[in-house]
Amino acid sequence: MSYVFPPAELPCVEVQGRKERFPVHRIYCVGRNYAAHAREMGNNPEREPPFFFGKPADAIVPNHATIPYPTQTANLHHEIELVVAIGKGGSNIPVAQALEHVFGYAVGNDLTRRDLQSQAKDLGRPWDTAKGFDRAAPIGAILPATAGTRLERGRIWLKVNGELRQQGDLADLIWSIPEIIAELSTLFELAPGDLIYTGTPAGVGPLKPGDRIEGGVDGLETLITVIAS
Ligand code: MN
Repeated sequence: MSYVFPPAELPCVEVQGRKERFPVHRIYCVGRNYAAHAREMGNNPEREPPFFFGKPADAIVPNHATIPYPTQTANLHHEIELVVAIGKGGSNIPVAQALEHVFGYAVGNDLTRRDLQSQAKDLGRPWDTAKGFDRAAPIGAILPATAGTRLERGRIWLKVNGELRQQGDLADLIWSIPEIIAELSTLFELAPGDLIYTGTPAGVGPLKPGDRIEGGVDGLETLITVIAS
């Protein structure tokens, strides 16, 4: 195959203990997957189930990066999330077999232009400019899911300049990891290389130039990102 110009580099993520990288195919995200966060955003988790949206694969930002404050926003928000990395594709995957499709897990930050998201909600417009902008998807190294790895509970947290902002527990996910994979696979054919940002706990808030963001999930590599001053 030859191209009219050199193709963009394939986005990829580090894998713990391996020199090979995880090639990213698509990035899916789950909205309102923790009840306390759904409530802080003014929604009722009893009545409205979680839902999906996406980011472009090249929105990936590696761990320990410094990124510019994005354009066209005055209210950039952090959303710390557990990310599921898919290793085996499929459609209509049963909940009971969903974990067989997981390659591993990582910590991610679903960066959000909250002001543009609020406008989009008010006007019934798409979320792409609020969620899918350049460098909107920081992610740490992926921990391969060896046989028996189950992330059903464990602390998920985020600090800005050392101050705790977000805290929750994976046990509080409304849709569990197998349920997310099963549900998403009814809408899209999942493929190796897909990443799923599984939703954020309560405590989302604004970032400013110069902020150092540190976030984690028990057992996974801590994700550190700096917003350039
Ligand atoms: Mn999110």
